[in-house]
Amino acid sequence: MSVYKLFGTWLYLFPSLLLKVSAIPERIPIGGIFPVGYAPIQDAFELAIHLHNMNEATSRFKAEPIVRTIDNDDPFQVTSNLCLQLNQGIFAIVVPTMDASFQTIVSYSNTFQMPFIHLASPTMNTSKKPIYGISLRPNYLPAIIDIIKFYNWKDIIYLYLNDDGLSKLQQILSLINDEYTLELRAVKRIHNATDAHAFLASIEMADPESRKYVVLDCDAVTAKDIIVNHVRDIYMGRRNFHFLLTNLVMDDFFNKHVLEFGAVNITGFRILQTYNDEYKRFFQSIKLLGLVNRSIDEEGSLSVESALMLDGTRVILDALNRLLRKKPDIFRNNFRRGQVYNNGTRGIDCKMQPLIPWEHGKEIARYMQKTNMTGLTGNLSFDENGFRTNFHIDIVRMTINSVMTKIADWTPSGSVTLIPTKHQRIPQDHLSLNKTYVVTSILEEPYLMMRKAEKGIVLQGNERFEGYCKDLADLISEKIGINYTMKIVRDKKYGGIDPKSEAGWNGMVGELIRKEADMAIAPLTITSARERVIDFTKPFMSLGISIMIKKPAKKNPGIFSFMNPLSQEIWMCIILSYIGVSVVLFLVSRFSPHEWRYEETLTGPSVTNDFSLYNSLWFSLGAIMQQSCDVCPRSISGRIVGGAWWFFTLIVISSYTANLAAFLTVERMVTPINSADDLAKQTEVEYGALRDSSTQEFFKRSKIAVYVRMWEFMTQRPNVFVDTYSEGIRRVRESKGKYAFLIESTQNDYVNERQPCDTMKVGRNLDAKGYGVATPLGSPLRVRLNLEILALKENGDLTKLENKWWYDRSECKSKDSKESSQSELTLGNVAGCFYILIGGLLLAMLVAFVEFYWQSKTEANRKKISLYQAMKTNVKISITGAPYFERMLNK
Ligand code: ASP
Repeated sequence: MSVYKLFGTWLYLFPSLLLKVSAIPERIPIGGIFPVGYAPIQDAFELAIHLHNMNEATSRFKAEPIVRTIDNDDPFQVTSNLCLQLNQGIFAIVVPTMDASFQTIVSYSNTFQMPFIHLASPTMNTSKKPIYGISLRPNYLPAIIDIIKFYNWKDIIYLYLNDDGLSKLQQILSLINDEYTLELRAVKRIHNATDAHAFLASIEMADPESRKYVVLDCDAVTAKDIIVNHVRDIYMGRRNFHFLLTNLVMDDFFNKHVLEFGAVNITGFRILQTYNDEYKRFFQSIKLLGLVNRSIDEEGSLSVESALMLDGTRVILDALNRLLRKKPDIFRNNFRRGQVYNNGTRGIDCKMQPLIPWEHGKEIARYMQKTNMTGLTGNLSFDENGFRTNFHIDIVRMTINSVMTKIADWTPSGSVTLIPTKHQRIPQDHLSLNKTYVVTSILEEPYLMMRKAEKGIVLQGNERFEGYCKDLADLISEKIGINYTMKIVRDKKYGGIDPKSEAGWNGMVGELIRKEADMAIAPLTITSARERVIDFTKPFMSLGISIMIKKPAKKNPGIFSFMNPLSQEIWMCIILSYIGVSVVLFLVSRFSPHEWRYEETLTGPSVTNDFSLYNSLWFSLGAIMQQSCDVCPRSISGRIVGGAWWFFTLIVISSYTANLAAFLTVERMVTPINSADDLAKQTEVEYGALRDSSTQEFFKRSKIAVYVRMWEFMTQRPNVFVDTYSEGIRRVRESKGKYAFLIESTQNDYVNERQPCDTMKVGRNLDAKGYGVATPLGSPLRVRLNLEILALKENGDLTKLENKWWYDRSECKSKDSKESSQSELTLGNVAGCFYILIGGLLLAMLVAFVEFYWQSKTEANRKKISLYQAMKTNVKISITGAPYFERMLNK
């Protein structure tokens, strides 16, 4: 029994309610034609009218459902029933999805100007466009294209059940733009699930390795059967299949927990807005009124068809409500003696000539099209063609645990907006010791490397690998007592958030989430983002992000490097002090009587003062050179000047000597970058990190100004990111110091110890973290792994492994030790001193020659002999060593 019949009697008990709508004494008849088997949808129609009639506060009228049930979707049946309803004077009509007779209904509606609501697919090929029809099913065809592009599918298998499916495919192919090449690997019209399964099985047989993207256009029951058959067939691949269900079927069967659904990848669309207020209010009123209705199943949920019908009926009721608010008397002449009249005649007669269309049809249809309200399927508003606008669709995906999660929102204007994936911890099972566990890892020196086989030996299984992680995996598996098989992560990545990947993550993290591996033993950094989606053990190694640069070429000390211990200013100050002190000494010696001496000379007695300017300069110079000099101040003032100068020179010369050795011998390395700060301040040296790594994540999330600036720099130049460590290291080596790599310290230390020993670590670590063994969330292995890692740490096994793979294999040690012992001076270091000595000698000889020349010239003038004669005599005197006074006598 329908809801209306159940509750109709109850309504009559309240005649006062009817008085309120006195302008409309009768109930407005709304027609509905439903084929048998559409009972839930029919009930949804009646339920909507019933709820409307119950709502005293907002309803301006009461409505009455006029329902006709037909045996099948046959145009003749539909026509005769439609005419009967028109005759009864219906104001508008609703129809569910009807393929065969849809065109007939459109014809009648257009002819008689009868407003109607339908659930037909908007992509359906129709020859006649409904003029007074409103389509409740939104057109989300571009969403299918967006999803195909989002997953970057290049070849699809398209299976469809009816003509609408084929027309959808044609539209997809015509709408997909030219830059995107989509190939059709196979297209098939299926008749049922078995048919589809057989077809997919044949494709799988022919090419079991490839990934298959199946776009499935069918109803929920067929889709469910196809997937269940697929999963139960042991010959069918599971995770290499990805189904995209194009109809709104995720709302129906897929919200029930079907275990098989988790085994394959399923993406689909949902329109029911289960989280919106309208939806909640609807269910509250159902509960409150205690209504029983076939549109709501045993589990208390609503099918998408029923929800669309409920919304559609509400669109008609709302439009009539608004119309009556605007023109309360509009229907006054239509109700007479319990009958509905149209333009003076009773109801609408299909056969009457000339045809009399429904007098208010146009107006009601116009109001329907102007709807703007929220329904169970979201916003209800329509464009001029009667199609839904401003709606939004949820893109959902089945998780491994057979739970449906929303991954994105789709709107006709904004296309796909991603929603972060939620991951769920699964209950712990017991650890099975018989199983062979899959360990995923990454080829990264010295953690995991391919072992070089001896001639004639083919390495197999885990023996193909060597390295720190291989040893660690051996130790752990032995301790726990399990077997393992090691594999290399497919995409060669550690793990970063990747919305395009099925698990929301790529790399080893993605493999663990997808349960393709049972654990990851690799240099995988423990981060909060990863910890949310996988489990980590306690860290087995500690590290931090560090900077790797190319070792700059060493600078040899120059020939004047003995000048380096003191800066230029100090040298200048010393020279000025030297001149100043000499001048002061000269002056004080002039003024002090003690500095004057009486002396008998060859030319007679004289009073002399040793501290001429010339001697003062010589005295001060002697002190700087730490030498004594035969002139010494005798006056107190002179001695004070001398003492102060000696003290000054003592300190300056000791400081100079102390620094000298270091400056002469050390080949200094001038590094352009010494810290992250240095990197952030400049743009000449580019810097980057590993893509999809914890390092990249660190910069992305950091709130520290320097790192934020560095992240901005890196994102502006995406080419600074590299896909593997070796690519980054190669870039450091080949970029002539113009690229610095942000790499984890452990790796940095290792590489710096490898040939050609041309990289180095600079600055402090940017953070502190650790590597952990990772497992899927809730893995039974986790507790045991944790214990074993701690035990290995405590008994020193991990330190031994570290020494084995890092320090014992160093290739740069010998060169470095040679460098450190290289402390003796070479000629190059002190050549400058020799140059000064030679320069001094040459200057002395030049001065001596000038003096000699001058002397000879004076003598030549005095004795009136030639310059040559004078010089000859003087040479003889100089060589024979004639005493100086003789010369003087010669004057
Ligand atoms: N060990 C790293 C990771 O787990 C790599 C890196 O961050 O540089 O992603």
